[in-house]
Amino acid sequence: MRCPFCGKEDNRVIDSRPVEENNSIRRRRICDACGRRFTTYEKVETIPLVVIKKDKGREPYDRSKIEGGILRACHKRPVSVNQIKKAVDEIEAEIFDREEKEITSREIGELVMDKVHDLDPVAYVRFASVYREFKDVETFMDELENVLKKKKSGEAKPAETAESAKK
Ligand SMILES: [Zn+2]
Repeated sequence: MRCPFCGKEDNRVIDSRPVEENNSIRRRRICDACGRRFTTYEKVETIPLVVIKKDKGREPYDRSKIEGGILRACHKRPVSVNQIKKAVDEIEAEIFDREEKEITSREIGELVMDKVHDLDPVAYVRFASVYREFKDVETFMDELENVLKKKKSGEAKPAETAESAKK
C-alpha cells in the first residue's frame, strides 16, 4: 500500500472497520515516512486470509463460521441478532487490523471468547466448553468460577439482560 502523498510504502493501520454496504474494510493508515494519514477501502473478498487449523491444515477465512459459533452459543439466550452482528464486526476488525495473511483458529477462538464473554455469561461458558474442550469437570468449574467472579466485580449492564431474560 503506497502513501498517496509521498509514494513510500511504510505505513501502519491505525483503525479498521467493516463497511456494511459493500462488504469492505475501511482502514485509516498513517505513513511512517511523511506522517500523513489516509483512508483505504478494501474488498473483504480480495483480502487473502488463511486460517491455520489445529491440525495445521489451512482453509480460507470464513466470517459465517464465527457467526455460526456465536449463534449456537447464544441459543435461547437474551442476545439479539444485532448484538451478535456487532460482535462479529468487532472481531473481524481486530482480525483484519493485524494485516497478516494467516491467523490460527486458536487466535480467532480467543477473540471470539472475549466478545462472547461480554454478551452473555451462559453463552460464554457454552462457547468456552466447546472451544477449550474441557477435559474434566474441574476445568469446567474453574472457568465457571472465573466468569462468576468477573461478573460480580464488573456488574456491567446486568439489568436489561435480566429483564429480557424473563420474557
Ligand atoms: Zn507518506
